[in-house]
Amino acid sequence: MFQKILIANRGEIALRILRACREMNIKTVAVHSEADSDAMHVRLADESVCIGPAPSKDSYLNMYAIISAAEVCSVDAIHPGVGFLSENASFAEIVEDHKMVFIGPTPEHIRLMGDKITAKETALELGIPVIPGSDGALDPEEDIDAIAGRIGYPVLIKAASGGGGKGMKVARSTAEIEEAFRLARAEAKACFGNDEVYMEKYLSHPRHIEIQVIADSHGNVAHLGERDCSLQRRHQKIWEEAPSPSISPEVRAKLGNVVTKAVKKLGYRGVGTIEFLYEDGEFYFMEMNTRLQVEHPITEMITGIDLVREQIRVAAGLSLSFRQADIAFKGHAIECRINAEDSESFMPSPGKIKDYLTPGGYGVRVDSHMYQGYQIPSHYDSLVSKLIVHGDTREECIQRARRALHEYVITGVNTLLPLHRDLAETADVIKGDYDIHWLERWLASRHQEEAA
Ligand code: ADP
Repeated sequence: MFQKILIANRGEIALRILRACREMNIKTVAVHSEADSDAMHVRLADESVCIGPAPSKDSYLNMYAIISAAEVCSVDAIHPGVGFLSENASFAEIVEDHKMVFIGPTPEHIRLMGDKITAKETALELGIPVIPGSDGALDPEEDIDAIAGRIGYPVLIKAASGGGGKGMKVARSTAEIEEAFRLARAEAKACFGNDEVYMEKYLSHPRHIEIQVIADSHGNVAHLGERDCSLQRRHQKIWEEAPSPSISPEVRAKLGNVVTKAVKKLGYRGVGTIEFLYEDGEFYFMEMNTRLQVEHPITEMITGIDLVREQIRVAAGLSLSFRQADIAFKGHAIECRINAEDSESFMPSPGKIKDYLTPGGYGVRVDSHMYQGYQIPSHYDSLVSKLIVHGDTREECIQRARRALHEYVITGVNTLLPLHRDLAETADVIKGDYDIHWLERWLASRHQEEAA
């Protein structure tokens, strides 16, 4: 097993990884920007190294500063966390070139799945159903409208190297297609430095269902069931559940089987998530994330498996500590993402935390790096806490979510706590009756009611 791991990340996820390391008796090195010297993961790590100024590109994305810190501290492995360099194949290669272990899949697999076009082609080859769309990238010389006509309007133009909902444009008719194509390309170029885009059928009422997988380097693969991440705003997940309220045990087993077989055939190692859109009983592959996901705790709550510990174990070359047949799904879990944002306007709200009181009790887990007096920097993602609740049934879980959201006190900055309190009282959410467009529709109708 590794003696020392460098955590190339910040915030709640850095703390999550640090906690797993400590329980495994592995020493930790925290790297941090100048804006994060007082961060919780820095305070709790065995060693820490400042790797640069506040902007991410100068610190958390600065590969050379991170590698230097790793060398100076003589670590065996680097955990990239989520976001930042976690899906950067070149970084994984550089880590390996320096004779350290990248805690993740091989650079080849990261590259393959990082490009959405090759990912989709690979999924098809592996027998996973995909969303009907263009054959690969769209050529500006082609008749884009004819392709859209063949697929059938409405269509979605998506960036090949997209992420976070950037570089995606819907076209509902011939009149909109040229503009959507132009805008998607421009946004893709600006955000990812690659203007390659492709086309997909735009699904009108799908749910976002993703399957968690884990594989070791000895050919063992297991799936840990699904997460339903349909409650989204601007393609950003807000509230996640496991299991999905819309999937039967039979469908779960069938989809899990397809995914497990595909991952085995791919020769994949590490944790991964295959994201699907699910509409009218059909599943369509969207992408594979070759890293840990923010919402991994809900899977941990219903399986009793510590995903970060398993991830570190398989990276160290050990076998999975369980088999598919050992996994028994228990109860229901919900994660509420608490962003430091205004619940009405979604304006980011960095600043100093005045009062801080976390909920506790049976079935409640808070993954957060916040503390009283903590200064939330303005430079990074606004996710500051994840409230995770577990219950024997979905009903009990929602009731527990209400109770925990009621107890949670964060003052000094605005957060999404009020939004989550409202969601937990809303009929469609209680029934589990929502698709990926539901939250935006609900927010819009709320604004209209207020205006009237
Ligand atoms: P990202 O890398 O940003 O997660 P995805 O391709 O996974 O990009 O898409 C993000 C979100 O966009 C999805 O969760 C879903 O809400 C929406 N989306 C993607 N493809 C489609 C589609 N073909 N039809 C409808 N919505 C889609």
